[in-house]
Amino acid sequence: MSDFDTTTHLLYLGAAICFVLGLHLMTSPATARRGNLLSAAGMTLAVVVTVAILWRDGSISSTGLAALVGGLAVGSGAGVVTAKRVAMTSMPELISLFNAAGGGAAALIALGDILNHGVLSAAARPVSTTLTMALDTLLGGLTLSGSLVAAGKLAGKLPGRPVSSRFNRPLNVLLGLLTLVLAGFVTAGAGGVTTLSLLGLVALALGVLVTLPIGGADMPVVISLLNACTGTAVAMAGFVLDSTPLIIAGALVGAAGTILTMLMAEAMNRSLFSVLAGGFGSGDSDPVALAGGGSYRTVEVDDAALQLAYASRVVIVPGYGLAAAQAQHEVVALAKALSEQGVDVSYGIHPVAGRMPGHMNVLLAEADAPYEQMQDLEEANAVFPTTDVVLVVGANDVTNPAARRPGNPVSGMPILDVDRARSVVVIKRSMGQGYAGVDNELYTEPVTAMLFGDAKQVLTRLVAALRTYV
Ligand code: NDP
Repeated sequence: MSDFDTTTHLLYLGAAICFVLGLHLMTSPATARRGNLLSAAGMTLAVVVTVAILWRDGSISSTGLAALVGGLAVGSGAGVVTAKRVAMTSMPELISLFNAAGGGAAALIALGDILNHGVLSAAARPVSTTLTMALDTLLGGLTLSGSLVAAGKLAGKLPGRPVSSRFNRPLNVLLGLLTLVLAGFVTAGAGGVTTLSLLGLVALALGVLVTLPIGGADMPVVISLLNACTGTAVAMAGFVLDSTPLIIAGALVGAAGTILTMLMAEAMNRSLFSVLAGGFGSGDSDPVALAGGGSYRTVEVDDAALQLAYASRVVIVPGYGLAAAQAQHEVVALAKALSEQGVDVSYGIHPVAGRMPGHMNVLLAEADAPYEQMQDLEEANAVFPTTDVVLVVGANDVTNPAARRPGNPVSGMPILDVDRARSVVVIKRSMGQGYAGVDNELYTEPVTAMLFGDAKQVLTRLVAALRTYV
């Protein structure tokens, strides 16, 4: 092995260490930013080393190099601009779009490789390569279209509720079988570009048909699963290209995505199969009204402020509405004002609150909420019975007692048991439903009072009222 080869292997090892340490740092909001930077540094190192190897081997022409540098500049530029400009509320859609881009790029690598090598034949390529090509195209295509549908659902451009018909199940079974046959052909080295392209097209169709019927409360599981598929497709692309850093990076994303999928399924109290099978046409589809007709109590800002100020313990339950209103700084200001009054304040965070895993933790960390005040589902549920006031800010599905009963889209999902507290104040703009399309029975319970308005404005007025009256 030449000195150059030894150096590049060591640098690749350095990049892999950056990925692993970066992922580790991302496990806590306090170190997540550093983790991101470290992973990005690892990826930059891997790209630079790869270009150096291509250059040294003479396997890239100057036109190819110019295209590579141009592509890097356009891709990185677009990534930086989009990430900087995107509103916090659109972050989940952006992540789904990044997932789609990862899956699509991985699938194109297999197609590019086969075009580069001309005819795909078992004699020309080992089975290990043709098999990974088939898996790369299948998973990459599925993730591309599935993530685009998920992004559309999250952005409200496609219906958030499950969309399915009675033809879904047979069609999915048919397409599933077709992908198996085509993948078999590709693995056996038969067919060439046409078979691989056909496999990609069927995978694209399958991605749409599998994701469209999943909706409402089950979306977090699907989004994490698509993330795991992107990672696995990228790892397969690494095998096709014989690129160690791509295999490592893809495997890490695939493994992290799989763990997240399992955690999300656990948080929803669903098996992965039941989420996917539910989507295969079981059709708990239309918005469900459970308690829409009940009467409810309202409360004004001044009364709510006094109630909070004279409480011993307050738990704040944030949800998607907090993100939509961009009210994270205001809610932290309120918590701080209450703490100064001697109130024991904490945040009860549901694992699927918001529109992406860890959404509430990210928002609250951005506003410098103390980590020790953040409680997970079990911790928060343990303190609700001894809590004077629960302040629900833009959370809906994650507090819905309907989840305790069978027969509706949130059934079985563990919820924050806010109705077990002495009183509940809910800040939202109307009696409207949450993402799962179910009326919230909490709002008509005797312990609950509705404080209508935009979360940011109401919280600002609450802080002002606290300062005035207390
Ligand atoms: P929900 O979507 O259930 O409810 C959010 C509530 O916020 C709405 O009912 C809305 O009511 C209110 N709201 C919206 N804008 C404002 C505003 N400006 N000010 C005040 N309130 C506002 O949110 P939850 O966090 O409770 O639950 C998350 C849901 O999203 C779950 O069903 C989950 O499965 C799903 N999901 C989660 C993902 C994840 O990874 N975390 C991904 C995809 C889906 P109103 O209009 O009356 O104001």
